[in-house]
Amino acid sequence: MTTIARNLLAIHGRIGAACRAAGRAPSEVRLLAVSKTFGVAQVEQAFAAGQTCFGENYIQEAVEKIHALRHRVIEWHCIGPIQSNKTRLVAEHFDWVQSLDRLKIAQRLDAQRPAALAPLQVCIQVNTDGGASKAGVSPQDLPALVDAVRQLPRLALRGLMTIPEPATDFAAATALHARARQLFDALNARGLALDTLSMGMSADLDAAVQAGSTMVRVGSAIFGQR
Ligand SMILES: *Cc1c(COP(=O)(O)O)cnc(C)c1O
Repeated sequence: MTTIARNLLAIHGRIGAACRAAGRAPSEVRLLAVSKTFGVAQVEQAFAAGQTCFGENYIQEAVEKIHALRHRVIEWHCIGPIQSNKTRLVAEHFDWVQSLDRLKIAQRLDAQRPAALAPLQVCIQVNTDGGASKAGVSPQDLPALVDAVRQLPRLALRGLMTIPEPATDFAAATALHARARQLFDALNARGLALDTLSMGMSADLDAAVQAGSTMVRVGSAIFGQR
């Protein structure tokens, strides 16, 4: 068994344990393998071990991998910042965008999504910490962006993504993730049918699952240190 296959097993074990501790079914939490900076060979190893969805941050790097692996049935998620001049590449190559935080980018992705492809599945990235420098829409601006994105026919809004500040312990990490969970629940209480709350990484996925994550994004615990 390869190291990557062993690491994937260990992560599924962690997700399972976190779900049991939270009284949730392990099937409620998807694992996104974050392959940024790693090569086609590593993605192939993870794919051989049964992993079929991968997250990438750097558009140009991702497009090269997506092209090299086009014979594989892989779901590709864009989880990094998107500049206006990169939206066409994203619209043409990815299945999901989780890092949507501006209407202008949403409009460009909608206009540029090829008709032959399914609508682009999107999560809005929300910044629950208020850190001004960080990506993500503020909780105050979230409802307006949600309403605008829902009007775009070539985008399918699936939920929220968040990257909280690193926390010192499990309770603190759970509290940070709970803020995103509240925003997610509030949107669904308004009648939306969002099914994806993307939060939790290698260091904090257990707390994220405790707080209600439905998708954890794990890089270094699968592929090694970057
Ligand atoms: C890199 C990255 C991850 C994975 O982080 P690890 O700590 O390596 O698990 C998850 N989400 C986003 C948005 C990232 O940029």
